[in-house]
Amino acid sequence: MSGQEYFHEGDRVAVLTTQPLDRLLDYRAPEGGCFLGAYCEVPLGPRKVLGVVWGPGQGDFDSSKLRRVNRVLDVAPMRTEMRLLLGKCADYTLTPMPAMLRLATRAPGLSDPPSMRKILRSGGKAPDRMTPAREKVLAVMEEFGGLAFTPGELSGMAGVTSSVVKGLVKQGVLVEEEAPRDVPFPALDPDMPSKDLTEDQTRAADELAAGVTSGKYGTTLLKGVTGSGKTEVYLEAVAACLRKGRQALVLLPEIALTAEFLDRVEARFGSRPAEWHSGVTMTAKRRVWRMIGQGGAQLVVGARSSLFLPFQDLGLIIIDEEHDTSYKQDDGVLYNARDMAVLRASLCNAQVVLASATPSLESWANAEAGKYKRVDLKSRFGVAVLPEMRAIDMRAEQMLPSTWISPSLKRAMIARMEKGEQSLLFLNRRGYAPVTICRACGAQVACDHCDSRMVEHRFMKRLMCHQCGETKPMPDACPSCKVEGKMAPVGPGVERLGEEAAALFPEARITVLSSDLFGSARALKERIREIAEGGADIILGTQLVAKGHNFPLLTLVGVIDADLGLQGSDLRAAERTFQLMRQVAGRAGRADRPGEALLQTFQPEHPVIRAILSGDEEGFWRAEAAERQAAGVPPYGRMAGIILSGSDVAQVFDLGNALARNDAALRAIGAQVYGPAPAPIARVRGRHRVRLLVKAAKGTPFQDAITRWTAPVKLRGDLRLSVDIDPQNFF
Ligand code: ADP
Ligand code: ZN
Repeated sequence: MSGQEYFHEGDRVAVLTTQPLDRLLDYRAPEGGCFLGAYCEVPLGPRKVLGVVWGPGQGDFDSSKLRRVNRVLDVAPMRTEMRLLLGKCADYTLTPMPAMLRLATRAPGLSDPPSMRKILRSGGKAPDRMTPAREKVLAVMEEFGGLAFTPGELSGMAGVTSSVVKGLVKQGVLVEEEAPRDVPFPALDPDMPSKDLTEDQTRAADELAAGVTSGKYGTTLLKGVTGSGKTEVYLEAVAACLRKGRQALVLLPEIALTAEFLDRVEARFGSRPAEWHSGVTMTAKRRVWRMIGQGGAQLVVGARSSLFLPFQDLGLIIIDEEHDTSYKQDDGVLYNARDMAVLRASLCNAQVVLASATPSLESWANAEAGKYKRVDLKSRFGVAVLPEMRAIDMRAEQMLPSTWISPSLKRAMIARMEKGEQSLLFLNRRGYAPVTICRACGAQVACDHCDSRMVEHRFMKRLMCHQCGETKPMPDACPSCKVEGKMAPVGPGVERLGEEAAALFPEARITVLSSDLFGSARALKERIREIAEGGADIILGTQLVAKGHNFPLLTLVGVIDADLGLQGSDLRAAERTFQLMRQVAGRAGRADRPGEALLQTFQPEHPVIRAILSGDEEGFWRAEAAERQAAGVPPYGRMAGIILSGSDVAQVFDLGNALARNDAALRAIGAQVYGPAPAPIARVRGRHRVRLLVKAAKGTPFQDAITRWTAPVKLRGDLRLSVDIDPQNFF
């Protein structure tokens, strides 16, 4: 803590709290004083709230009325770097500071005193009388000599009742001690033997490691096809970071992927790292947060919010599948973890590695411009080769009504099954059917709260709104015309595709992999492992399967509707389709068997479909970059989405029109505003949504202008305004 500014008891300090106030509050430093950055509890009205000592008091407040900080919490003070990060992230995303602080203090029991637990140690005495049960307990104590257990753990491990353990305590054979509940994570050993890397991989690993060893900031795009060994390579960068004694963070886009990754970390470094995501228990989270803060965790594997953990000396951030859209948080604080990782690293002299087979155009462009380094892995590991890709021209296929597997695709699947290999059919639509329509009156079942159609989930026997999650039973009679027995599904979801596959291949073992079909991440993970071991002939999957799972027997990927992603009006539609199709295709032929990817499409001549098939990635990006440059859109221009919402549609539009009219602050920087227009999903949870889009050239004071533009807005009633800088989703 040396070097941290210190305030003596009674000094005036300014405290940032997690309460929605637009300023810092002045207090007096508590008994014993406090460091700058100290987490503390302060009185606010009748309540006690969490805060952080942000600086010296501002002094414009009557000092006789000044209250005192209640107490300093028993955690390491927030580092300067984190205060800078929160401030810059707030400025960038136009988020109030208290909301940023909440993001950085998402640990349960932060203000609790250090929690203790009872543990048992050997008391060095022999029991008065030996029994078989007592012998078992002593054998466990002997086997794990140095380790201490709680009474419950000990009786469990020995397989005896708790009274046996209590008896031994009474006699002094075992003694009770108090120990902190939150203990450091086991040390990771970077020098355990690693896999022999190929020449290509070694060169890449050396380059990443050199960056880490330099102790300076830098970002590298690690591009390599699926299965080229990106993970093996970046684990060597982690090793270099551990050798330097600094902490490392690996962000993964999907919780379902963490289990496999944790196994790989354990194989490489001998122990498991700390985990941080929504599936981690409260107690485990508390331990992780505290241990990171005091250096008791060397490596964290987690979701995007891990970026705001209180690392003491962060030396490396890996963003796996950096193009993944889940890195953009789309409610609350609208930040992009990829961009904020680069910001954080630049504040603490750390390296960032962005790993992907199909980088985002943003990262590709940054590498082209020389802002990022770029390291490529050109070939797949071992004998695995990239799958051959072909289009199935659906205009030429003979399709029966309500079927989606073309005769050509069916033939290819039969050929694979005859060889004992697996096929994957990809359809990015959860549920049974995207639309339920009444054959009598033509009405569709819509959500009562949103302007979106209800999706039938036959597995759950319910209709579900994919917008708000609302479900209702499948109606017998049409809600509109009341005629019975006429409700019919239209279009395919993965569940329905499963039925079609079962009818086509009655002998095959078929699995549908969709996140909503599994009760828990664990059940899903288990199923994924079974599939990898050959427990299915045909796999049907949504987006879930596009991400990083290894299925060695999988040699055929059939994309049911390659045109699906091209329909949106989204600026990134082409890029997303390109990435997704290549990711999915990359699932085929990972081990020693060559793979094949077939794309069902009605427009095989579409430039994006042609680029996917030809595999000319650089060509695709250059063309896409040129188009965006010409249009002045990201990453070559700035964009912000403004979403207005409220229960009264006229009020929402009035506000939108007023904003569009009073755009002087935007015009001052040459920015244009488009809209208001109904948002693509115009009603969510009963609230009407209206959207404006702001476009500006790069290098203009964009956030400033938006702040000045929206500042005069008075939000009456339940009107809400949210600003999304660099929007990823246009909904
Ligand atoms: P990516 O992250 O690029 O998809 P991975 O690192 O997961 O690739 O590698 C794909 C598979 O090949 C994994 O099972 C990995 O363990 C294996 N592999 C990659 N490189 C090597 C190597 N040099 N030696 C042994 N196995 C390797
Ligand atoms: Zn809904």
